[in-house]
Formats: sequence, structure tokens, C-alpha cells
Amino acid sequence: MLTAQLAAIVPCTEAEGPGKRFALWFQGCPLRCPGCCNPEYLPFNGGATRAVDELGREIEWSREQNGVEGITLLGGEPFAHAEPAAALATAARHLGLSVMVFSGFTLEHLRTTIDPHTATLLAHTDILVDGPYLREQPDTTRRWIGSTNQRIHFLTERYRYDESWRQRNTLEIRVRGSDVIVNGFPAGGAVGLWKGWKRKARTGTTDGSN
Ligand code: SF4
Repeated sequence: MLTAQLAAIVPCTEAEGPGKRFALWFQGCPLRCPGCCNPEYLPFNGGATRAVDELGREIEWSREQNGVEGITLLGGEPFAHAEPAAALATAARHLGLSVMVFSGFTLEHLRTTIDPHTATLLAHTDILVDGPYLREQPDTTRRWIGSTNQRIHFLTERYRYDESWRQRNTLEIRVRGSDVIVNGFPAGGAVGLWKGWKRKARTGTTDGSN
């Protein structure tokens, strides 16, 4: 049984790419970008182990219930989890959904790796946002993008750079019982602002990085 090590899931969000999307954050990243707003997602131990088949059914459910048009893979570093990430991307495509991936690696680097799962994930990706997060270069004009060095690669014809990208970033905050769930990308001065708040509420996080 193929499994994925995940830090968080949001079944329907508008803060992690175009339209409504099912977002999955992997647990574990080999990079160490100063200012990464998800340091708790960097260790490879932790998070939850989830069967990829089961995740596929949850994605299909969200397509039916929420009308999500795609999945977004974030981290952590999705390409450090290339096998389950590729399987999730393949499953999403079979459901007619699009795939967006945020990676701290550049596309050029990824294309030189010989790992077949990396190639499969790239082959099933519609939008790749690449490059490490640089906190001294915050991006305030491209929605969903963390820093100005990061590039948007439209790897298929499904999307293009339109007005939806030319907006300020979006942060979503959900309160479910005693849980406070935050995702999206905050303005530079607000990175991590909610962390103590969440600890007080004894909740997990779903805020993205990259
Ligand atoms: S910003 Fe992304 S690539 Fe950089 S350390 Fe954090 S999770 Fe890893």
C-alpha cells in the first residue's frame, strides 16, 4: 500500500492556486529557507501517514461536494515525496482535475534528476511554482506566490497568467470548534503571527510555505 506522509489537508481552499482546490501539505523538506513559515513541516518524522488510495477518494468526494477544480501539493517539499505525490497527481488527472505544485527546487534541477517519480509528477503538473522562498524578496503582486524569485511555470495549456494572479495574497482562517486552521500566504509582517495563537488553542496548522 502506497502511503503519503502529510502535515495537513484542506479539502477546499481558494488560497492555494486558481479556483477551488484540494490542498495537501507533505511532512518533510530537505531545504532550509530562512523565514520558512512552516518550520514544523520540515522534519521528515511527524505528520500523519495516509494511504494514497484513500486520499484519492477524499479528493473525488471534494470534487463532488465542493466543486474543486484541482489539487495543490505543498510542503514541506512535494518532490521529496515524489512517489506518493506523483500517484496523487495521476489520480487527480484521472478525475479530470488539475495539478499545481509548489517546490523549493527549480524546474531545471528537477528535470535533471533521474528519479522516475519526479518525472511522473512533472508530467502530471499543470502549474509549477519553483524556487526557494526568500523572505527578503516578498511578492506583493502575484497572488499565491511567496517571493519574487519564484517562477510560475504553466506546463500545460490548462491555465495562463490572467487577472486572478494579479492580486494580493490570500489568507484563509477557519475556526472549527477549538481548532484554528490557517492557510494561504500572509503579508510579510504577518508571517507566523498566528502561531502562538494556535498553540494557545492547541490546534494544528495548515498554513503553506514556498
Ligand atoms: S519554504 Fe518550502 S522549500 Fe523552503 S524550507 Fe520551507 S518548506 Fe522547504
